[in-house]
Amino acid sequence: MSYDFLDTLDLGGPQEGAGIGTWLTTTSGESVTVNTPIDGSVIGEVKLASLTEYEQVVAAAQEAFIKWREVPAPARGEVIRKLGEAFRAKKGELGALISLEMGKIRAEGEGEVQECIDIFDFAVGLSRQLYGLTMHSERPKHRMYEQWHPIGLVGIITAFNFPMAVWAWNAAIAAVCGDAMIWKPSLKTPLCAIAIQKIVDEVFAEAGHPGVMTTIVGKDADVGETMINDKRLPLISATGSCRMGRHVGTAVAQRLGRSLLELGGNNAIIVDESADPEMVVRGALFGAVGTAGQRCTSTRRLMLHRSMFDEVVERMAKAYATVPIGDPLAEGTLMGPLIDEDSVKQYSAAIETAVAQGGTVVAGGNVLDRPGTYVEPTIIASETRLEISHHETFAPILYITPWDRLEDAIADQNDADQGLSSAIFTNNIRNAERFLCASGSDCGIANVNIGTSGAEIGGAFGGEKDTGGGREAGSDSWKAYMRRQTCTINYGSELPLAQGISFG
Ligand code: NAD
Repeated sequence: MSYDFLDTLDLGGPQEGAGIGTWLTTTSGESVTVNTPIDGSVIGEVKLASLTEYEQVVAAAQEAFIKWREVPAPARGEVIRKLGEAFRAKKGELGALISLEMGKIRAEGEGEVQECIDIFDFAVGLSRQLYGLTMHSERPKHRMYEQWHPIGLVGIITAFNFPMAVWAWNAAIAAVCGDAMIWKPSLKTPLCAIAIQKIVDEVFAEAGHPGVMTTIVGKDADVGETMINDKRLPLISATGSCRMGRHVGTAVAQRLGRSLLELGGNNAIIVDESADPEMVVRGALFGAVGTAGQRCTSTRRLMLHRSMFDEVVERMAKAYATVPIGDPLAEGTLMGPLIDEDSVKQYSAAIETAVAQGGTVVAGGNVLDRPGTYVEPTIIASETRLEISHHETFAPILYITPWDRLEDAIADQNDADQGLSSAIFTNNIRNAERFLCASGSDCGIANVNIGTSGAEIGGAFGGEKDTGGGREAGSDSWKAYMRRQTCTINYGSELPLAQGISFG
C-alpha cells in the first residue's frame, strides 16, 4: 500500500536518528525497522544514533539554550505560535501518520495533533504569564520577591501511545519557559518524531534559534541510559510504564536531578444507582475501547451498583459487538490494531488468567485472524474483583464488578498501585461530592459523569502513587520546567538580619 501523506511530511527513504536543526549522520551502524500495525508491512527504516551523536545533540542544545534563555518569554511564545500554525497546516497528514505508525483511528490521530495545537496556543498565552509572587519582608526597607528562570536542558522521553502529544505538552511549555530540549521518542514510533522534528527545524531556523528542540532516536541501553544519568540535563520528563519510571526516577534521583514522571494507570469508573445508563455505556465504551485500550487513562475497571449491573453489562456487551474493528485509516473504523505482537500476547494471557481466576468473558475475547495485530474489545465480569485487574494490561480489556456500598466502591477504586484517572457516574450530588472529597478518589484526575480518558490540556495532567506524581500541560505545570529564585533587595543603609538576630 502507498501512503501519499508520507511525501507531504517528507518522510520517504532511510532516516537518520538525530536532528538538531540539521540531520546528523549516525554512526551506530544499527537501525530500527518500522512496521505499521495495520498489516505489519514495513513503512520506514530509521538509523539509530550512537553516543557520538548524543554528544553532538547535547552540545547543540547547550549552545541554543545560551541564546534562547535571553529571548523575552513573549517572543519565545511567538515562535511557538508559528509552530502551531505549521501543525495546523499539516494536521491531516500528521494525524494520518499517527494512525499508520501507532494504530489509533484517524479521528483520534487528528485529535492528538489538535492536542498539540491546543498546547501551543496555551503556551503562547503562558509566555506572558510566568508569574512570580512578591512577599512583604520582615526587615525595614527591604523588598522580597520570587522569579522564575529557565532550568536548562530538558530530556523528554515519550511512550508509543501518544507519539506527538506528550512531546508537545513538554516541548511547548519548556520552550516558552526558555529551556532547550532533547527528545528521545519510543523506538516503536520514531517516524512521528522525525516528522515533527522536520517541522520544528523550519520554524526554529526561521526564528534564528536552531537547536532549541532536538530529537535523538536511540536505544534505551546506550542513549537512554546516558541521557537519564547526564548531569547536563537538570530535568528528565519521562512518560511510560511504571517499570520504566521506577528505573528512570531512581537514576535521576541518584544524581539529585529533577524528574517529572507520567506513568501507568489502572483507571476505574464507579456507577451509582442514580446514573444515566446511556451515558455510562457511552463513557465506558470510549474509555475502554478508544485507542484500543492503549491510553494511560483507558478505563480498565467498571464498578456498577448492583441494581445497575445486569442492564449495563447487557448494554455494554451489545455495544461491544457492534464496534467496527480494522484499518484505523479507513472511514467508520472505531478500533484499530494493538501496537505489536507482544501486546497481543499480553492481551491473550490476561484473558486466560482472568478466566482461570473466575471471570466470565461477556464480550470479545479473541484475536482476529487477519494480517496486523487486531483483537476484540473484551469485557470480563465477576462477582468480586479479580487479582489480574490489579495489573495494567495495555489492551482493550474491561473488568466489571458489582458493589453495594459506595464506601466499598471508592475503597476498591483506590486499591490500585497507580492513581491516574477516575470517574463516577451519578445524579446524586452527595455521592458526587463524596467521590471528590479528601477521602474520595485518590487519583490525579477525578471526573463526574465523564469517563476516565480524554483530558483537556488546560488542567494539570498526571497522577499519584505509581503513576509517578508528575503534572504536565495546563494550570501551573510550567513550574516544573523552571527554577525558582527568591530575591531580597535592601534599599536602606542598615543591614538588619532576619529573625531579629544581632551579630557582633
Ligand atoms: P515504556 O515504559 O516501554 O517506554 C516508554 C519510554 O521509555 C520509551 O521511549 C522507552 O524507550 C523509554 N525507556 C525505557 N527504558 C529506558 C531507559 N532505561 N532509559 C531511558 N529511556 C527508557 O512504555 P510504552 O510501552 O511506550 O508506553 C505504555 C506505558 O506508558 C503505559 O504504562 C501507559 O500507561 C504509560 N503512559 C503514561 C502516560 C501518562 O501521562 N501518565 C501517557 C502515555 C503512556
